[in-house]
Amino acid sequence: MSEACDQSCSSCSEECSDRKDKNDFLESPHELSRIKKVIGVVSGKGGVGKSLVTSLMAVTMSRRGFNTAILDADITGPSIPKAFGIKEKARTSELGVYPNTSKTGIDIMSINLLLENETDPVIWRGPIIGNTVKQFWTDVIWGDIDYMFIDMPPGTGDVPLTVFQSLPVDGIIIVTSPQELVSMIVAKAVKMAEMMKIPVIGLVENMSFFKCPDCGKSHSIFGDSHVEEVAAQYGVDVVAKMPIDPKLAAACDKGLIELTDINWLDNLANQLEDEEQEIKGEQKMKIAVASDNGNVTGHFGHCESFMIFDTEGKKIVKTEAVANPGHKPGFLPNFLNDMGVNVIISGGMGGGAVDIFNEKGIEVVIGVSGTAADSAALYLDGKLESTGSICQEHEHHDECGEH
Ligand code: ADP
Repeated sequence: MSEACDQSCSSCSEECSDRKDKNDFLESPHELSRIKKVIGVVSGKGGVGKSLVTSLMAVTMSRRGFNTAILDADITGPSIPKAFGIKEKARTSELGVYPNTSKTGIDIMSINLLLENETDPVIWRGPIIGNTVKQFWTDVIWGDIDYMFIDMPPGTGDVPLTVFQSLPVDGIIIVTSPQELVSMIVAKAVKMAEMMKIPVIGLVENMSFFKCPDCGKSHSIFGDSHVEEVAAQYGVDVVAKMPIDPKLAAACDKGLIELTDINWLDNLANQLEDEEQEIKGEQKMKIAVASDNGNVTGHFGHCESFMIFDTEGKKIVKTEAVANPGHKPGFLPNFLNDMGVNVIISGGMGGGAVDIFNEKGIEVVIGVSGTAADSAALYLDGKLESTGSICQEHEHHDECGEH
C-alpha cells in the first residue's frame, strides 16, 4: 500500500496486498427493491443533454412495457423532475423513501423531490453528495424494476467514481456533443469504465445537427462531427446521433418529455432488449444438488433431497428442496431429467448413473463437498471442478445409482 493511499482501489493501479475487489464497495439495495439492470448515463460536462438522453431512454423502455426507473445522481444540477413535470415531494415511511411516479409510470428519485424548495442550491462537498446518491440506492423503495437509468453527475471526478463503486452498474452510455473536446471526453469516460470494469454500451452524439423545417436540409451547427473516428479509436460504437430539436427543449421545459414522439434512441433500446434476450435465452438453467440437510451428499442415490436452483445468468432466482423419491437403479436420472435439470452436483455417484446423465446431456459434477447453495454458486462462477470421483466403493454400489 502506498503512503498516499486513500482506499480508492478502483482508481489506483498498484497491485498491493490491501487491494479490494470492486464488489467489496457495492451497497445493497433496499430490501424491497429488485432491480435487474442498472445503466449509467455519463458526460464530460454539463449541458450536453445527458439528462435528456436519460429521460428519453427511460421513456422508450417504459413504452416497450418494462418497469423503468430514473435515479437522478446529478445532485448539483438535477433536471429530471422538471422534464417529467414532477413537483410533489417524495413520500417517506418507517420503511424508507418512495420514488415519485411519472404520468406514464416511470419511478423517479431526485434531490429536488426531497428539498423544501427546488430552487435551493445544493452546496455540499463531494463525499456528502456521494453518500446521498448511495442512499438513493439503499433507502429508496424501488420495488420491481427492469431498467434503472442513472443520470450521473457530469465529469469523471470523485462523485461519479463513488457512484460507480457503490452501485452495481451494468453498463454506461456516454453522451457527447460536437462542440466539446470529444476525443478527450471519450478517452476519460472509456478509461473510467475500464478501471471500474463496466462495459461501455455506446456513444450518443447529441445536438449532432439541425434539420431545417423549411428546406429540409441538415446543418452541422457546431461544425462537422468527428464522433465516429473517435469512437473507432476507443473501440466503442456510436449508437445514436440526435439532432437539435426545439420540440425537445420545449417538452423538457413544460414537463412533458413523456409525450414527445421522439424515436432517436430506438436503436439503443433495441440493443438493450437484444442483450436481455440473449441472457435469458442462453443462461437459464436448473441445477440439482444431491443433498443431506443442506449439504452436498457423498452418495447421490441415497441423498435425503435434491436442492433445485433455478438460475438466470449467474444469479440464483429460485431455490426449492425436492425429496428423494427413492433410489431404484436408473430411476433418478430420468426423474431429474423430467424436471428439466441441466446440471447435477454430488459428492459421489455410481458409474451407471453418470452414464445415463451423460446420455441425456445433463452435466455431472462430482467429488463436491460443502453446502448445496455454495456449490451451486461456485458452479455459476465457473469455479466448481468435477474431480470425477465416481463411487467405486462396493458398499455404496446401489445407493449411488450404480446397477
Ligand atoms: P445535461 O444533463 O448534460 O446537463 P440537459 O439534458 O439538462 O443537459 O440539457 C441541457 C438543456 O439543453 C436542456 O434545456 C435541454 O432541454 C436542452 N437540450 C438538450 N439536448 C437538446 C436537443 N437535442 N435539442 C434541443 N434541446 C436540447
